[in-house]
Amino acid sequence: MTPGELAGRLSGCLTEPPAESERAALAEALRAFDAARAGTGPVFGELAAAIERVRGRSELAVAAAKALRLLAQAPPLADTGTGTGTRPAAEATAKPAAETGAPVKPDRRRIRAEHRQAHELAEDRADRRSDQRPVECLPGIGRSTGLALRARGLYTLGDLAWLMPLGYHDERTITPIAELMPGARQVTEGRVLSAGIQPRRGRRMAEVVLEASDAGERGGARLRLVWFRAPAGLLARFRAGERFRVAGLVERFGGMCSMTHPQTEYLSGSSAAVPRGVVPRYPIVAGVPPRVLARAVAQALERCAGDHDEAIPDALRREHALGRAIDALRALHAPPASLDAAALERWTLGLSEHHARLALDEFFLLELALHKRRTEEQGVLAEALHAAPEAVARARAALRFTLTAAQERAVAEIHADLARDEPMRRLLQGDVGSGKTAVALLSAAHAIAAGAQAAFMAPTEVLAEQHFRVLAPLAAAMGLRAALTLGGERASHRKNTRKALEQGRVDLIVGTHALLSEGVQFARLRLVIVDEQHRFGVGQRLRLVDKSQGLAPHLLVMTATPIPRSLALALHGDLRTSVLDELPPGRIPPVTRAYRATEREQAVRQLERGLESGGQAYVVCPAIEPNEDTGMRSVLETFAELQPRLERYGIELLHSKLAPEARQQALERFVGGQARVLVSTTIVEVGLDVTAANVMLIEQAERFGLAQLHQLRGRVGRGGQRSACLLVHEAASEEARARIAVMCESHDGFEIAEEDLRLRGPGELFGRKQSGLPGFRFGDLRRDQPLLQQAQALAAGVIASDPELQAPEHAGARAALALLAVSDRAVVKEEAG
Ligand code: ADP
Ligand code: MG
Repeated sequence: MTPGELAGRLSGCLTEPPAESERAALAEALRAFDAARAGTGPVFGELAAAIERVRGRSELAVAAAKALRLLAQAPPLADTGTGTGTRPAAEATAKPAAETGAPVKPDRRRIRAEHRQAHELAEDRADRRSDQRPVECLPGIGRSTGLALRARGLYTLGDLAWLMPLGYHDERTITPIAELMPGARQVTEGRVLSAGIQPRRGRRMAEVVLEASDAGERGGARLRLVWFRAPAGLLARFRAGERFRVAGLVERFGGMCSMTHPQTEYLSGSSAAVPRGVVPRYPIVAGVPPRVLARAVAQALERCAGDHDEAIPDALRREHALGRAIDALRALHAPPASLDAAALERWTLGLSEHHARLALDEFFLLELALHKRRTEEQGVLAEALHAAPEAVARARAALRFTLTAAQERAVAEIHADLARDEPMRRLLQGDVGSGKTAVALLSAAHAIAAGAQAAFMAPTEVLAEQHFRVLAPLAAAMGLRAALTLGGERASHRKNTRKALEQGRVDLIVGTHALLSEGVQFARLRLVIVDEQHRFGVGQRLRLVDKSQGLAPHLLVMTATPIPRSLALALHGDLRTSVLDELPPGRIPPVTRAYRATEREQAVRQLERGLESGGQAYVVCPAIEPNEDTGMRSVLETFAELQPRLERYGIELLHSKLAPEARQQALERFVGGQARVLVSTTIVEVGLDVTAANVMLIEQAERFGLAQLHQLRGRVGRGGQRSACLLVHEAASEEARARIAVMCESHDGFEIAEEDLRLRGPGELFGRKQSGLPGFRFGDLRRDQPLLQQAQALAAGVIASDPELQAPEHAGARAALALLAVSDRAVVKEEAG
């Protein structure tokens, strides 16, 4: 076996979960490989060891990723003549094996990043478009920087080129240290006087003192620079006497001006060498210094510009006097030095003419994508499902409550859709706790009563598990045969479930999007219910048709994240909407209170009061494990702290890295009430239904999106009792405080979503990778109606002349659409951490 072949096999494992047989073959191949290479060094021993550790599938992927990485560093072998061309790119800078031999830190995001890295490096070819080449092909981006970028979702040069500045620093005016004014962000320069670590309130704080560069013998004005959680190696840069330019918010403590976490730039020799200008400010990427990131962005942009195709065809652009999109993008990364204050403000707010130009492209692609979807789905029929009324009535009786008027309406709308031979495309929107599950179940009951099968898909395995927990007893009461299928379960079990599906012995199957993978066959799948619609892309929808013997299944997508109406229309122009705008009777919304981190003890006491009154409590943290870089509060820390204190109530820990059995057990104990406290990640966001839960404490609430906080909060007070949501926060910025305040004041999911949209922009709500449709990073559907209309006109012209986008001048549009289809693939947003 040559390294090329091996790499090919391994990367195969990374794209699709390997079947049992493949797993054995892989292990065997690797053993053979190891034997052949015995004695050639530690690299191959590592490789074999990695494979030997294979147990579950996710571990296999880790092992495969690791093996690939090692392979990338292996010395060329003599017998590579038959290599399959999948050898990793030479640019993947080799690091000594000893360094990479360290055990893979079990951090999910990182592991995922590693998979992708290994896979993409193995696949990198020079004939790719630049925007699809891996970040590691840039000079100066080695493995560790590459991983850090990937952990933040920056995989390709395209990702880098489209990383938008959060704002701009005006570095045209340098204020001398002596003239700094507290209260404003300023830029200054000075010489390092001292640098060291200061213990402050138990924390190690890095402190650098700068002195005015032109200070004479007696010294001059000074500025203190402060870092909490200073990154390793930070201080080494600040050798005494070296000159730096620094930028940050100026504060005054004890008579001396200071900046906390300033931006710093080393000035070698003369300051004339470092240009003064308007400097883009990019998001922080842990592990990548801002300068390195900015340089990588600039380089990536230039490479992408080299083979960039405009989405809007040239002729059309000229006709409408539109500039090139790539030039607009370039401008946003390198603003002209001539901008005045007002213009700079517009740029920062995303309101420049360049933003508008890019928004136009987004809308243009949206129109093309919607058109494409319409034509692809046109003419495919669905089976009209007619259920016997008695069967449906029986299902209803199994629910031990009367439906709300809104639920009745939705059920009626869905049943009417199901009875037609045109595939249903319906979005069920409803705030947390509005009872979407009951509607979904009644829809499934209708389809099943008509002799069909229904599938219920959740975005992650954990969520699928939770849904099944809720659905199974109800389904049983309705006389439906329900089953759960997950990747992690025993192969024999999975095989049985799949066989039962194929033979029609299962009516309702619950799982993840893996249900769409090749292996699963259905006897008569006619209804697909998808929870969390924005994680389900266009491509996946089309694949459903294959599962239904050439018929399109009816599709019901449910969103627990309320979509602002303005966005819903544009994103799902082809979906009809049912809205649950009413909560089941007797619900009292949880009282939401904010606590500063210093007041956390009060929040914990409040939590204890909730427990004393007989309730159950959730404690939610943004991360699983402690991490110095991110400073995110982890479940492990919180659990360790709270366990002794709350032990008498029974306390459990839940996160996605636990083994499935441990997860199961923790959940069961909490659901059953033996444990009354659950410390977890956002894993509980959707679907967990414990009616006794009456209090939730959220750590570092500022780290969550508003819609997500609203989801979380929806887990308490479900039994009609009084309940509380306690937001412990370290909100530093104005915006973060505003967001927390919104949570305390509003209980309307739609209002909160609109507010989130306003404060964070739609890009956050609908990242391009999650929506499966063009993310609106530049456009705002409410603000930009004229642009949307212009885009519609442009797209209509293109479609009229060339519906299939075959003409050479439409290559750019075609490529952009293809990219959207790719980003559909298996992009699932996981819990934080
Ligand atoms: P969501 O819309 O957030 O998915 P669920 O479907 O989980 O909401 O329902 C929330 C809770 O309300 C569940 O405990 C469910 O049993 C209950 N519920 C749903 N509909 C009604 C109703 N009409 N009357 C009373 N309780 C209901
Ligand atoms: Mg739900």
